[in-house]
Amino acid sequence: MSDFLVRDNREMRARIFDFLKDPLYEPNYYMGVREQRAVTTQRVKAYMSQRFYDIADYVEDPLRFCAGLECPMFADFSTAVKMGVHATLCGGTIASLGNPAQKAKYLARMDTLELAGCFGMTELGHGSNVMGIRTRAEYDPATREFVITTPDDDASKYFIGGAAETAHICCVFAQLTVAGRDQGVHVFVTPLRDASGRVLPGVRIQDNGAKMGLNGVDNGQIWFDGVRVPRDALLDKYGGVDEAGTYRSPLPSATARFGVMVGGLTTGRVLLAQGAVDAMKIGLTIALRYAFCRPQFGDALIGDYVTHRRRLLPALAETYALQLAMQRLKAVYKLRDMKRGKEVHLLSSGLKAAATWRRVQVL
Ligand SMILES: Cc1cc2nc3c(=O)[nH]c(=O)nc-3n(C[C@H](O)[C@H](O)[C@H](O)COP(=O)(O)OP(=O)(O)OC[C@H]3O[C@@H](n4cnc5c(N)ncnc54)[C@H](O)[C@@H]3O)c2cc1C
Repeated sequence: MSDFLVRDNREMRARIFDFLKDPLYEPNYYMGVREQRAVTTQRVKAYMSQRFYDIADYVEDPLRFCAGLECPMFADFSTAVKMGVHATLCGGTIASLGNPAQKAKYLARMDTLELAGCFGMTELGHGSNVMGIRTRAEYDPATREFVITTPDDDASKYFIGGAAETAHICCVFAQLTVAGRDQGVHVFVTPLRDASGRVLPGVRIQDNGAKMGLNGVDNGQIWFDGVRVPRDALLDKYGGVDEAGTYRSPLPSATARFGVMVGGLTTGRVLLAQGAVDAMKIGLTIALRYAFCRPQFGDALIGDYVTHRRRLLPALAETYALQLAMQRLKAVYKLRDMKRGKEVHLLSSGLKAAATWRRVQVL
């Protein structure tokens, strides 16, 4: 049955689950926010030091990448989300939008967490409306640099995982202007902190503080006050500025470019949907085992009562159905075939909504 339900990277998953038995990953419900953040950082570091996956797998072996990020969700969701922001959103964006030199510059150091990354897409005033973001990146031909500016508080990067305490770099989504012409949303790898963790000049960061959950993740708000980054900070696989200061792109329009710029969110959706299904599996495993060993009113087990079964078994059936649907999605997703991008987008968006809503009801 487990072979039927888990179809990829079984040996690797077994090694990971073995590793997660380390006492470092034991739950502790008595920690404050600061302690939760510290232990989450420790857990992410220990996990990544095992090198179960590389960030380059995001493009080269997507199912191995997903397996490496799914398994820790069984142990601690903060660990999985903090690592997900670093490896999937930031690392994956560099892996998919960067040129070979940019990948060589960042990915190996991100694999070891020497360089911790975050993902600056959302702004206080622009959440769902990513196309409407207002962070600016203007090209200065005199110095061959981009100047990254937050024009006002509404355009500050908001709720950015890893920004409050840990990230050294940020994949900043900004509106690019070259020689007075707007070229739409592009991504710039922008340093936030030096190696010792000090926030760099021109960058302001405020901690978003305690949340209702995921308190191991340090979310923060970021402003850029005319921060200068070199020409190669722009991830330029689908649009960049050449030596002469001319903007070039293989794609015909800002709208077409926007589609590829936000492509990194797809893997996040796949992982969040799978995480929701996995949470249902955990909850139902506990509830079903309990139902079939807990006697009540004599020898009868609570699982023998029809009303109790009716609460658990439909949820179990739905969990199987969602797990199989995830496999269907992953079978297409792993191909990384641009021609099937719409199918992956529809399946991942629909399944993320369906699985996360259902998880709330089941748990
Ligand atoms: C824990 C956490 C971690 C996060 N980490 C990061 C991060 O690392 N990096 C990052 O960039 N962002 C991050 N975010 C921000 C996240 O990406 C945004 O919250 C998300 O994009 C939604 O934006 P919003 O919160 O501004 O909601 P809004 O866009 O204001 O939406 C609010 C509600 O209105 C609905 N709505 C909006 N527009 C429409 C429409 N056109 N049609 C129908 N309904 C609509 C939405 O469904 C939603 O229910 C994080 C958020 C959270 C909660």
